Amino acid sequence: MDTDRVANSSDTIKTSAKKASQRLTPEIVDEVDRLLAGRTRDIRLSADLAGLFRARSWSSTAKIIRAWMAWVIVLDVLTLAVNAVLLSPGSVVPMLAPASILPPVALAVGAVFLKPRPLWMQDTAIQLGMFLILLSVALVAVNAGGEYYERHLTIMIFVAVTAIIIFPIPLKWSMSIAVFALSLYLVFQLQNPDIRTGSALAGALFFASGVIATLVARRTANILAHKTFLLELRDRARLAELTDANSRLELLARTDPLTGIANRRWMMETLNRAWSEDLEPMKGVAILMCDVDHFKQLNDSLGHGEGDRCLVKVAGIIQSSLRDERDHVARYGGEEFLVLLPDADGQDASTVAERIRSRVEAASLPNPSSTLGPYVTVSIGLAAYKRGGESVSSEMLQRHADKALYLAKRAGRNRVVIYPADAREVQR
Ligand code: GH3
Ligand code: MG
Ligand code: MG
Repeated sequence: MDTDRVANSSDTIKTSAKKASQRLTPEIVDEVDRLLAGRTRDIRLSADLAGLFRARSWSSTAKIIRAWMAWVIVLDVLTLAVNAVLLSPGSVVPMLAPASILPPVALAVGAVFLKPRPLWMQDTAIQLGMFLILLSVALVAVNAGGEYYERHLTIMIFVAVTAIIIFPIPLKWSMSIAVFALSLYLVFQLQNPDIRTGSALAGALFFASGVIATLVARRTANILAHKTFLLELRDRARLAELTDANSRLELLARTDPLTGIANRRWMMETLNRAWSEDLEPMKGVAILMCDVDHFKQLNDSLGHGEGDRCLVKVAGIIQSSLRDERDHVARYGGEEFLVLLPDADGQDASTVAERIRSRVEAASLPNPSSTLGPYVTVSIGLAAYKRGGESVSSEMLQRHADKALYLAKRAGRNRVVIYPADAREVQR
């Protein structure tokens, strides 16, 4: 059906619009607008938006976390190697056990972030994994003793700070990493036999200020990432709206408002398309020009409203008389309809034309003042191009169909005339 086809052409556009607005419900779009209208620093994603943000940023976040885990393993092994060179075996051996906690833990966390997992699992992996990694470095410090005690605790703070800076994860996860690091630092420094309590506290405070600054930077980075994401969503929503409006306009521009079938403009485009394709593989192509007989009299006797209803019905009858999806009908003018039959020879076209004519007649739509009888009838002019025949433009074929229609009218109406028409070709 042609309306379907007009609708289908815009369906493709609609589908891409739908894709663009995937999962963007009106509520989400409203929430995006609300957040963007406020101050950047007040941006807090709702649960739905946070879910969308996670889904969009998951792969880069996971990649960063995996890379960091690999880096921390390398750091662990390198530190141990340097210590093995610098320290006596007696000092290095006690470091082995705590240092060996780190690689499997980092590998396990990396494995969790190999594919999307439930949030609780990611949450647990980051929190537990980071705690064990930091603990491993801190225990290496404790076991190393002496000047290495404090140095390794500083390394642990460094490890935590890099994680906070690098991991684009929810702020609460970054905060728990900061708390683990500072607590471990304080607890182990308080037990450091080489420094006094005051000095341990001062060191912890010093690092706390640095870690807090890092957290603030992380928070700002998170908010900016959220804002970028919201702007992206707004663009997507606007694009979807525009595409949708465009396709609706396009549909309107191609549809006849009264009958709902395609309009003349659409038919002209379709004819041009048909003629720009190679017609040779087809049997031929035919055009039917259908015109309601004595329609003016119908309007005059039953009123314009009834005339409109009659046009809608005739359009429906013509459409249902076509062969299949290949055929097209459009309202060509007031009470005139043009039918395009691709891959049809004169015989096929004549069958369709006769089907239209007889079905309109059989529908018994009233036209009481018609001189032909009490019911609505149509006259049809048919012009066909046969494969291998003399080449013909679409305009010429339309003119031929028009001429045949004129002859059908002259021959008494309610008939099909095939171009080139003469008295013998006038059918009934
Ligand atoms: P013929 O058998 O020779 O085709 O006679 P006709 O009366 O059908 O043809 P004519 O061209 O004299 O009149 C066509 C009429 O169709 C005139 C016009 O008012 C009417 N018409 C055109 N568009 C519409 C429409 O959208 N609705 C209605 N109700 N009438 C329309
Ligand atoms: Mg007419
Ligand atoms: Mg007419």
